[in-house]
Amino acid sequence: MQDFHSALGLATRRKPVQPITLVRPHAARRAARFFVEKFPGKSLYAVKANPAPDLLEVLWDGGITHYDVASIGEVRVVSQTLPQATMCFMHPVKAEEVIEEAYFCHGVKTFSLDSLDELEKIRKATRGATDLNLLVRLKVSSEHSKLSLATKFGADSDELSQLLLETRQVADAMGICFHVGSQAMTPAAYTEAMERVRTAIIESSVTIDIIDVGGGFPSAYPGMEPPPLESFFEAIHEKFEDLPISYSAELWCEPGRALCAEYESVLVRVERRRGNDLYINDGAYGALFDAAHIGWRYPTELVRAEESDAPLAHFSFYGPTCDDMDHMKGPFVLPEDVKTGDYLEIGMLGAYGCAMRTGFNGFGVEDRITVSDEPMMSLYSFSAERPDESNVVRL
Ligand SMILES: *Cc1c(COP(=O)(O)O)cnc(C)c1O
Repeated sequence: MQDFHSALGLATRRKPVQPITLVRPHAARRAARFFVEKFPGKSLYAVKANPAPDLLEVLWDGGITHYDVASIGEVRVVSQTLPQATMCFMHPVKAEEVIEEAYFCHGVKTFSLDSLDELEKIRKATRGATDLNLLVRLKVSSEHSKLSLATKFGADSDELSQLLLETRQVADAMGICFHVGSQAMTPAAYTEAMERVRTAIIESSVTIDIIDVGGGFPSAYPGMEPPPLESFFEAIHEKFEDLPISYSAELWCEPGRALCAEYESVLVRVERRRGNDLYINDGAYGALFDAAHIGWRYPTELVRAEESDAPLAHFSFYGPTCDDMDHMKGPFVLPEDVKTGDYLEIGMLGAYGCAMRTGFNGFGVEDRITVSDEPMMSLYSFSAERPDESNVVRL
């Protein structure tokens, strides 16, 4: 596989007919180093955001040793790709058979739960194991996040104290976790949730060994530029220091999006233009699920050897399938003269983008190609690390 510096070299030389996923290992590595060095605790990568084995390896090399998994499929992928990694099973509703396989075959000792039913399942499936880390998931608000995760999981306050007390009897190490929703736009999302944690600890008087603030750390997208990640880390650390927990208690987080959003982009081709609708060869059943279903906007660039000097205009996309729902409203910003046959790069698709692909209607991707230029947007400074470009084709 030949590496290219950027989308342009690839489009010019290969003229790909199907979309191509462009991967930027240096960007994911930079994100991993950032969390490892700056988050005041342990960072678990939430695998569901993007389970690509090549990404798992980059994050491992960047110092991420713990992985938040949510299904037996994710357990198997991580276990095969990174046999030394520590996995934490953070889905609060699991099949007993899955808990059993995770514990006995893959050495998973950390589980989350939000009900007495689940506690009983974990106890039975691990045959009364005494080396478990159990984290009780609290229900918290998603009001500061672009994507809500507030209704599905989390223990209700009326049974919380009992759940904490009974879990304490089973757990070796005992924690509290929550999830503020994805793409949290302010540190207040975490500090308000940690107030709930404080109340729960005081009301139940249980000893807590782990506080896990979950995922939700933002990335940069058009129209969504969050404050620096350091401000989130500082606010979390301050609240953590103030909780009624022991000196040796650990602080964890579970970033998905923030670690991988910059890792991938997609090179697509315009197959038809109708007004300001562009018919492209990737869409809602490919990497653009969130663009279609929740109106997420991604940065776009025209990939043409001779740069266009036309003014910028707003476009919508249609994907390649025959389904009306395969429509991405945008707006996506491109030069006004974009036309059939042009290539476009759509950026920031490393989280919940390429991971959502289906093969519906026979449309898929052609290839994954490593590029060394910078992602279109970033929450990390570009000076941190430069990739090795010695064997890269430059155009
Ligand atoms: C989805 C999820 C994450 C990752 O969320 P991001 O918004 O991608 O950071 C972390 N923890 C849990 C339990 C999740 O369900």
